[in-house]
Amino acid sequence: MTETAGIHKVTVSEAVTRVIDTLTQQDAVRQALDFLEADNDSTTEEQIELTEIEAPTFEEAEKGRVFARKLADLGVTDISVDEVGNVFGIRRGTGNGPTLVVCAHLDTVFPRGTHVKARREGSRIYAPGISDDGRGLASVLTIARALKEANLQTEGDLMIGATVGEEGLGDLRGVKSLFARRSDIDGFISIEPGTPDRITYLAAGSKRYKVTFKGPGGHSFGSFGTPSPIHALGRAIARFADIQVPHDPKTTFNVGLISGGTSVNTIAETAEAVIDMRSTSQAELEKLETQALRLFRQAAEEENKRWRRADAITVQLERVGDRPAGSQEPNSLIVQAAAGAGMAMNFRPILEGASSTDSNIPIHLGIPAVTLGGGGDFGGAHTLNEYYDPTDAHLGVQKILLTILALTGLAGVTAPLLSKRG
Ligand SMILES: [Zn+2]
Repeated sequence: MTETAGIHKVTVSEAVTRVIDTLTQQDAVRQALDFLEADNDSTTEEQIELTEIEAPTFEEAEKGRVFARKLADLGVTDISVDEVGNVFGIRRGTGNGPTLVVCAHLDTVFPRGTHVKARREGSRIYAPGISDDGRGLASVLTIARALKEANLQTEGDLMIGATVGEEGLGDLRGVKSLFARRSDIDGFISIEPGTPDRITYLAAGSKRYKVTFKGPGGHSFGSFGTPSPIHALGRAIARFADIQVPHDPKTTFNVGLISGGTSVNTIAETAEAVIDMRSTSQAELEKLETQALRLFRQAAEEENKRWRRADAITVQLERVGDRPAGSQEPNSLIVQAAAGAGMAMNFRPILEGASSTDSNIPIHLGIPAVTLGGGGDFGGAHTLNEYYDPTDAHLGVQKILLTILALTGLAGVTAPLLSKRG
């Protein structure tokens, strides 16, 4: 989760405030909220248990199996693992309501063999992945437990589960597959580490390419005049670095890695770069992509022309990442529901800048989606010093539970704020 844009404001309507107020006055809802507080310690234990199962992106199966077993114990039915490894089950509503997804991601950025045993230090727990997204997974489970414990009957269906491939080269493959298979999802909540005041509702898109220049190579003195892949790459980077992009919508580019060549007195046979382009606007992202691809091709031609050796240098452009961008109105109902739930608990809502999370896919598709913080304190995400502090973490999941109930409706009490698509 990286912030890439400025902060906007949300205004919660009277109608939404009334729904939240009505919910918080229900005994059963209060019972569920109290349960979340009482469950905080055992939720932390469960979070540690899940974090200690390694799950690098593309290797989430074992953690997925354990997570599925836990869901089954919580009254979630129809649990299945799809072909990419997403784990989802259903908690049925009374029918005719909207379908809301509540999920976290199974994968972490840490390669197999990383020491993932948790270590307590004061109120903090250190372990790679403990927050991102150990907190999300544990949040999903405690929320399901609270719904069961208080016997809350929603009007809409809840699709509760966990995705694969959220991080890095996973390229959101889990959530992409979910939306490719299902057209009946009306709303989406992704849980990531974070505090209860923050709401992520904008999706930063990204495109990543591995660029490879190839040529015949040769001795630097004896074969002088042979076009060089490294020189071609240099030409390309110089032009790429000069691309003009807008401030707003924020659009960025970066050459993050370069490699190539074999020795100082050899004309290289290959040169490679990995580039990253991002924007909060899909149109700007695609414009930047077109421009970048064109100039990488031009650089190969220029290097060939320089030595009058047509086709000596070739360039391969391999897309290694594609996350779509998207935006929603800050006053859309799903944002209002999350903000209103936070306000009912005395948090001042803060709308985050665009980031890249599982919500990117529904937001891009025009389906209401937010990414919410599971609560507690955290730091060092994506590093070996990642930690989580469970102090008052229940506030995060209490806010999410209220948001869920407002969106799906509580049977016989409040109508769903979320509408059915189509
Ligand atoms: Zn995450």
